[in-house]
Amino acid sequence: MDTILKKETFECNRYCGECCKKLIVRLTKADIERIRKLGYEDEDFVERDLVYRNKFVLRTEKEGCIFLKRHKDGTYSCIIYKNRPKICGQYPFFAKNLVGSCLPNKVYPSAFVSFSKK
Ligand code: SF4
Ligand code: SF4
Repeated sequence: MDTILKKETFECNRYCGECCKKLIVRLTKADIERIRKLGYEDEDFVERDLVYRNKFVLRTEKEGCIFLKRHKDGTYSCIIYKNRPKICGQYPFFAKNLVGSCLPNKVYPSAFVSFSKK
């Protein structure tokens, strides 16, 4: 059984990168500005949302978010961690203060059921 995670005390402790591999990250204008200031061009990290064409999301590659780095020991980290999109900092507590797991298939079980049916 999963332990209940609390927003106030949550720390990523597996560094499995699952959240950054599986989820689509919506970007705000402020996120885009902040990441541009790190020296990235828009074509490096911004894509148009496929559903909401006036919105933007982070670019992904085969292993997920383009800012996700795999280390030799198999763990993952974010190379723009201090400047990551706001929504990344909120994960997995978007509307709640308690969640059962930070794994994306548990945070969004219905989304994963419909993906697997395709
Ligand atoms: S899924 Fe959870 S444990 Fe894995 S990297 Fe994301 S926050 Fe950390
Ligand atoms: S920007 Fe960083 S924290 Fe956000 S999805 Fe990409 S690797 Fe993960």
